Amino acid sequence: MGKVEKGITCSVLKCDETADRSMSLTKAKMSQELDFDNSKKRVYLCKTHYKDWKKSSKSDRETERMRWD
Ligand SMILES: [Zn+2]
Repeated sequence: MGKVEKGITCSVLKCDETADRSMSLTKAKMSQELDFDNSKKRVYLCKTHYKDWKKSSKSDRETERMRWD
């Protein structure tokens, strides 16, 4: 899990906000609500979508936390 370099945009479809967080595709898929470009192994999320992701993946978050990258 890292901060993202400038110039990278959010992977959620139709969103072109600057990405704030990155995570593996596997992890990003814990949320059923977000529709992102899943052709890449790395997913980038803007602040707003990262919040949405956190909310919608809440139930799995505790168990996944140890493997946070
Ligand atoms: Zn976004």
